[in-house]
Amino acid sequence: MWINSQDLLRDGVDPLFSKLGSYGFDSASLFVGAGKLIFEPDKTLYGTMAPVHDPGLKGKDLLREACRGADDHGIGLTATAVCFPDEYHAQSFPQYAAQDVSGARHENFLCPNRAEVRDYLRNLMQDMCARYEVDAIELDYVRYKRNREGSELPVLLLAGKYCYCEACRAKAEASGLDWKEVISSARLASEAAEKVDLDEFRKIGELYRNALDIVRFYVMYPALAKWLRFRVDTISSFVAEIKDELKSAGRTIELSADLFYPTLSWIVGQDYEQLSGHLDSAKPMIYSAAMGGWETGYLRSLYKGLGGGSEGELIEFLDNVQGFSSGASSFAELEVEGAHDQYVLHETRKARLLLGDRTRLYTGLSSGWVPGVRFSTPVRVKYDIDSAVKAGSDGLWFFSYGSTSEEIFETIKNSVAALR
Ligand SMILES: [Zn+2]
Repeated sequence: MWINSQDLLRDGVDPLFSKLGSYGFDSASLFVGAGKLIFEPDKTLYGTMAPVHDPGLKGKDLLREACRGADDHGIGLTATAVCFPDEYHAQSFPQYAAQDVSGARHENFLCPNRAEVRDYLRNLMQDMCARYEVDAIELDYVRYKRNREGSELPVLLLAGKYCYCEACRAKAEASGLDWKEVISSARLASEAAEKVDLDEFRKIGELYRNALDIVRFYVMYPALAKWLRFRVDTISSFVAEIKDELKSAGRTIELSADLFYPTLSWIVGQDYEQLSGHLDSAKPMIYSAAMGGWETGYLRSLYKGLGGGSEGELIEFLDNVQGFSSGASSFAELEVEGAHDQYVLHETRKARLLLGDRTRLYTGLSSGWVPGVRFSTPVRVKYDIDSAVKAGSDGLWFFSYGSTSEEIFETIKNSVAALR
């Protein structure tokens, strides 16, 4: 189960871990923050990019309390670090923020190639490993930003909106990439994405009706295929660095990561096969019903920008190229229903095949009910649990504690007990 500082403050450390134990959970992943942390960092470890103890906690060390509480109740504790979205550091060090092809910096997403950023995150992992008895370190948001802001047309998804900063350029050129070609191709995709009108969207809808149409895009823009490969190498090498850092900690600490589900992983620079060389476990976030809420947010803003057409046309595009097969005819329907009911089965199978046997697979499922975002019902949660196990998952993780009802906690307990 994923838990956060608010859950600990609201329920109390002991009642929270006691509840998890009573529902059959054996592990919890606690978000430690990004830049502003739930514990007091060891200032001597960090260079210029030092994190701070979240002032809202008034000196309370929640990681320490959680380590003690989890241990008392027999629950394994994982410290989950949010990697590249870090508003605190992006505001203090805008020169390290991710940059789009026009030179604009992102407000809170850091560049994964900046040496300073990577040093900071390595130091953070070292800090936690040295002073806290956590069983595992988990990397969340260990990826590029999924680039589909506002009402940009979805063609930009294929090019990768970030990061075109000097650090990325130097690394890309050192790896043999033709930077000029990368930039000119990315500009073409970016300009196409900015032509937000109904004719342009319909053209894209006709051109990209299925997965093989996407191949034509990369035949047209081969530099972008290499660019996506470079982004994947960036993330894999970062995870390898963290793995080395953990090895030097002198005790066994597992490394895990929350990943985009396989269909989308390449868009954000995650390669399951490469990552399996460094990760002890992987948690693909296959949130089935919740995916509807995620997608409709973007589709709604796109729809507004188009100023015409039908909601069904936009959903059809998603169903076609992303294998969503929702069959929904309205955003409201998609929001509640999400992806088709075989999504967890298929994505877990892909993850299993790509990871092989050396990395444990914990399918991340949505168990929450948050209007407009996640609509997980007991029936759906039970179905998703059965699908993930059937597809070869070694375990399950649920998102998240605070949004999960007692009824769904019961469902999880009973479904998992029935499988044992
Ligand atoms: Zn960069």
